[in-house]
Amino acid sequence: MTISAETRSAVQAFLGKSPKRLLIGGEWRAAASGKTFETRNPATGELLAEVAEGASADIDLAVAAARAAFEGPWRRMKPGERQRIMLRLADLVEAHFDELALLDTLDMGAPIRHTLGSKHHLVSMLRYYAGIATAIYGQTADTSLCGEMFAATLKEPVGVVGAIIPWNGPMWATIFKTAPALATGCTVVLKPAEDAPLSPLRFAELALEAGLPPGVLNIVTGFGGDAGAALAAHMDVDKLSFTGSNVTGQQIVRASAGNLKRLSLELGGKSPNILFNDADLSRAAPAAAMAVFANSGQICTAGTRVYVQRGIHDELVAEMARIGAALKIGNGADPATDLGPLVSQRQLDRVLGYLDSAPGEGARLVSGGARLSDAEHAAGFFVPPTVFAGVSDQMRIAREEIFGPVASVMPFDDVDEVVARANATPYGLGAGVWTRDIGRAHAMAKRLRAGSVWVNCYNAMDPSMPFGGYKMSGYGRESGTAQLDDYMSIKGLWIQHD
Ligand code: NAD
Repeated sequence: MTISAETRSAVQAFLGKSPKRLLIGGEWRAAASGKTFETRNPATGELLAEVAEGASADIDLAVAAARAAFEGPWRRMKPGERQRIMLRLADLVEAHFDELALLDTLDMGAPIRHTLGSKHHLVSMLRYYAGIATAIYGQTADTSLCGEMFAATLKEPVGVVGAIIPWNGPMWATIFKTAPALATGCTVVLKPAEDAPLSPLRFAELALEAGLPPGVLNIVTGFGGDAGAALAAHMDVDKLSFTGSNVTGQQIVRASAGNLKRLSLELGGKSPNILFNDADLSRAAPAAAMAVFANSGQICTAGTRVYVQRGIHDELVAEMARIGAALKIGNGADPATDLGPLVSQRQLDRVLGYLDSAPGEGARLVSGGARLSDAEHAAGFFVPPTVFAGVSDQMRIAREEIFGPVASVMPFDDVDEVVARANATPYGLGAGVWTRDIGRAHAMAKRLRAGSVWVNCYNAMDPSMPFGGYKMSGYGRESGTAQLDDYMSIKGLWIQHD
């Protein structure tokens, strides 16, 4: 997977148009304050672009533009026309995906193989929701209490949707949030993460090129406490879809109370990955390693609590350490790179804090464990794959989301024990089970309290399947059809005809 010279120059041209502006009502404009902030490459420290620092005044303008588009052209447009625009957008995203992937790699560090790897899924997701645009309808009811009555339900778009996304998969989150909103006839104000604002801006250029009317998609870059908080509290936003940390999720729940806007929350995780003695280790060990290390651990579903039945424990620990040590860590723009840097100094400090505290709590460091500071890595925020064994459920590394490439490996003996331990967490995003016993696989899948359970695989995803959390990993779903009613209001229609 290499990036062509043409893609590189397209990305350079995009970055050259710095400072990057906000998209409001179909126009690119500076922040009302005139302020900008820098976005830098976490592998090198290089300045990529200055970006408009939107805040409350810009959110007001963007929400007004989204409202006008919702009440105007978008609301009047037939679903079939919305579908055609979304399909054109899917074609453009497919044609320009290398640029979007390279922007994410430069902006947040993920290896180009990783960012390019989501092309099929994300383009398919746009097409999947484009298809749904013409497949939304209500029901009729044969009412028994009301005489001669025609009774039906109508499904109507909820209105203006606010979308707030994290930095760990910017293009991923942008498409997960905009595709269902556009398919159901809503308009969107999207606030990218301040650590990785670039690819959503390029996506918005493609959306305009696809023919999306002005104001249907608005992008306000800026900081969470300003632009994000203003969007969450805005009285004219009908629904907010948030992906990010639990602390911010709780702030958003409080901020949204003013107009009781609908919320969906995709939050953090501390997912268990459970390997039984009868697992096929040739598949389970690499999958368990990459469930933690991929994207340098900056994946919400990372399988960081690795429960290993005692018979294969030592072998698995050694194998995870060996696989981690063999990964090439470096600048994500190099096609040979397996793992890039962490996204920021803040994230580096956070991860190093856990690495420092774990031995003091009794964990045994098997591999990794310290920042890479040799000449190749000194300018970036690089942490190698790290394996701790001898971890107990009470340690901080076993309880808290680290968001770094850190595995906590814990032995177990029997099924009831491991189910109880796996479920003893406030989170419930993902869970993995590795066994050749089909009965045990089904029983485990039922008993684990998580939004996705993967048996003999990990992190499998498809546009047709729902994704989301149990417990404090959030509520609402993304992907699939389960979430569609969150973007729609259902109206009961009664027509008496006797
Ligand atoms: P974060 O909560 O710090 O930031 C997420 C977004 O919220 C950013 O755009 C930020 O600017 C904004 N924000 C911050 N404070 C805000 C406020 N007071 N009001 C409104 N918006 C505010 O999270 P992060 O560090 O960017 O992302 C990492 C977290 O995201 C991890 O916890 C990870 O598990 C979670 N995540 C979850 C999923 C999922 O689908 N469940 C997917 C990816 C990431």
